[in-house]
Amino acid sequence: MKLLAHRLEHIMPSASMSMAQRVIEGGHTKKVIDLTWGQPDFDTPDHIKKAAFDAILSGRNGYTVSSGIPELRVAISDFYKSRYGVSSDPMKEIIVTPGTKQGLMYLVQAIVNPGDEIILFEPCWLSYRDMILLNGGLPRFVPAGKKLKPDISRIEDFISVKTKAILINNPINPSGYIFSRSELEFITGLAEKHDLYIIADEIYDRIVFTEFISLSKFENIRDRLIVANGFSKAYAMTGWRIGYLLGHERIISKVSLIHQHTATCAAAASQYAALVALRGSQDSVAAMTKTYKERRDFMVSGLRDTPFTLVQPDGTFYAMLDVSSLGVRPGENAEALLRAYGIASVDGISYGQSAKDYVRLSLTKDKKQLAEVVERLRSVRNA
Ligand code: PLP
Repeated sequence: MKLLAHRLEHIMPSASMSMAQRVIEGGHTKKVIDLTWGQPDFDTPDHIKKAAFDAILSGRNGYTVSSGIPELRVAISDFYKSRYGVSSDPMKEIIVTPGTKQGLMYLVQAIVNPGDEIILFEPCWLSYRDMILLNGGLPRFVPAGKKLKPDISRIEDFISVKTKAILINNPINPSGYIFSRSELEFITGLAEKHDLYIIADEIYDRIVFTEFISLSKFENIRDRLIVANGFSKAYAMTGWRIGYLLGHERIISKVSLIHQHTATCAAAASQYAALVALRGSQDSVAAMTKTYKERRDFMVSGLRDTPFTLVQPDGTFYAMLDVSSLGVRPGENAEALLRAYGIASVDGISYGQSAKDYVRLSLTKDKKQLAEVVERLRSVRNA
């Protein structure tokens, strides 16, 4: 039989999904505490669910305008105005997508020609690499500095004539790192100097425990910036598949062509739910973020003085744990942690070589289970 497309040859399955599968397979000596999943352990708030029901029951079940219902685009634009002081044209500079991931995929398709390079910082979310490769591009990873801090001083070493964009995830999945103003100024300056696009994935912008500065605030890069964001994390809406892109009309209009021929539009009910998410009470977002912060603090203090060091995250619901004391080979850390402690995590190496001594813990379990995680990690290794 004829071979499938070459572009699939280097695509890898998602490491977090593989580990989740490994947990289901069973055969574990301890009851496994699963910290692999990148989704909130909260349900979507009731008023948001009700908005979807209302939309469905009132017959708003057809295709919508491809770029998203105008009310939602206006709500997104208003949100950026009130939260970040940024003005945008809702009809020309915003497109609603079926999840942030799909929006990012569109963007890479819109930007990359075969052989073009995109700069990324290690450690970074698994899917960027594969999205870039699927579109014939090449990811160029800047290794992290100490404690997985993005090493912006090395970016220029990785810029070549083929570089097309810098992709910044802020706050970062998996480390929870938040870029400082001066770091963002430096990066935006480089984008101007080398004529590069900036893709800013700010999907965790609401789950922050310290000052967060959106790249949308940087006037100097307005014509070369696209921000990707969505509802999955802040509003616990991962299954609704709803996100958006905000950027210059020149880019959004082209992304819109890809979207028209790929998905037509995001699901209508999800769009009406997202509208109420933005327009309604934000109390649940604040409550969830408070809980994530409490969990973060609990883990940081609980794991102090253990053979494992947690890199304190300033945002997201993830945390990177240095497990080099396990003494196993790179790529075997998550498996070793699972066997010895019954804790399922994602191996650091899947986020880049810089994180080979780490695993990612998703702090999406209640206090009781996290207390059990701490207790197990404080105990003497028994495998
Ligand atoms: N970007 C990052 C950094 C993520 O961690 C995720 C999900 O894990 C996404 C994007 C995808 O979000 P969505 O559910 O909106 O597609």
